[in-house]
Amino acid sequence: MEASLQATYDTVLQRNQGEPEFHQAVREVFESLETLRGRHPEYEAHGILMRLCEPERQLIFRVPWVDDEGTVRINRGFRVEYNSALGPYKGGLRFHPSVNLGIVKFLGFEQIFKNSLTGLPIGGGKGGSDFDPHGRSDGEIMRFCQSFMTELHRHIGEYTDVPAGDIGVGSREIGYLFGQYKRLTNRYEAGVLTGKGLDWGGSLVRTEATGYGAAIFANEMLRAREASFDGRRVGVSGSGNVAIYAIEKTQQLGGIPITASDSSGYVVDEQGIDLDLLRQIKEVERGRIHEYAERRGGGARFVKDGSVWDVPVDIALPSATQNELDEKDAKTLASNGVKVVAEGANMPCTPEAVEVFRMAGVGFGPGKAANAGGVATSALEMQQNASRDTWTFDYTEARLTEIMRNIHSTCLTTADEVGRPGDYVVGANVAGFRKVANAMIALGVV
Ligand code: GLU
Repeated sequence: MEASLQATYDTVLQRNQGEPEFHQAVREVFESLETLRGRHPEYEAHGILMRLCEPERQLIFRVPWVDDEGTVRINRGFRVEYNSALGPYKGGLRFHPSVNLGIVKFLGFEQIFKNSLTGLPIGGGKGGSDFDPHGRSDGEIMRFCQSFMTELHRHIGEYTDVPAGDIGVGSREIGYLFGQYKRLTNRYEAGVLTGKGLDWGGSLVRTEATGYGAAIFANEMLRAREASFDGRRVGVSGSGNVAIYAIEKTQQLGGIPITASDSSGYVVDEQGIDLDLLRQIKEVERGRIHEYAERRGGGARFVKDGSVWDVPVDIALPSATQNELDEKDAKTLASNGVKVVAEGANMPCTPEAVEVFRMAGVGFGPGKAANAGGVATSALEMQQNASRDTWTFDYTEARLTEIMRNIHSTCLTTADEVGRPGDYVVGANVAGFRKVANAMIALGVV
């Protein structure tokens, strides 16, 4: 890295010890910013990088709740309000036992650039808890969400900070969170949370948006290479909200998604994933992925050990979680002839894996561009809430498609401009960064 970037990076490491995912996210952005060397002395003069790496506010709080046996439980809640140069802090809440401050900071940092790329007026933030919703009753989930919001409510608002879902937080949780916010504040402030249900302020297409957007982005990448989804084998990891709708849109675009996974293993279905069955098992029954193979029959198989990326595919949409696709997986995918990889999850590919794709000439769409459709549609939900209006599915989906196409072309144009043609990582980081940096300069040292 160039000396001043390296010096800032070293300070970031020193001030944020023991947070490897956060370091990884910062490093990736800094490496892209090397392409701007000498072009923007004003960024250095205004201390942009150091200010950008330091969240505006970091909240850590106790979340006490009582389980069904009457035992008092304690979890840790987080909200990192990272950057508000472009709009209110915006980003999801993740409920998963792996959540800690470093993970929330990595997600919040990525969110700044992602949100900037959407072209919509949203800043970056992220939050969550180390609470594990797995196996918890509906009543336990509700009490946890109510306790979480009892603290969080004083820090958020439609003009301040607008949380949404992420891993472990879907419309059920958003409902309980919104209900408690409404009760505590005595306001029906719909724009304080996104991902709401359709009967109470939600937007059509929000549920589908992250997965749809990732498939639309991959389709644009394919088009740029004069290729298409048509008849192509598509590998998808995960089986949550992102994976399910990436599979659906891939099918609509003519591709054949053949895999899905969860933490217990993966399934391969050469005939193409039966989406109704996958949805029934994962969304309705909240079951495990092996049940898919058992109930589908006809050649679908469950694999407990090994990697979903061992399956030969033309297009890969990693949609599970961070660092799920490593160097070895990338080598396997590349030697199996993968053409395009687009990240549905946040940072699912390790830096080593991304380097393998780069060397092998595989198109690589980073999450902050490829999965921006979710948060973009959240911003469309905020627009509808602010105008007390609801839009049709077709209109909202057309807006999403237009936003994804714009992000795709912004990445390519920016990558060209800084001398790294075809490099979506550099294009996304530089374009996302510049808009935030310019706004920060205009707003002064705050
Ligand atoms: N958690 C999602 C993301 O990573 C969505 C955030 C939102 O809608 O605010 O972009």
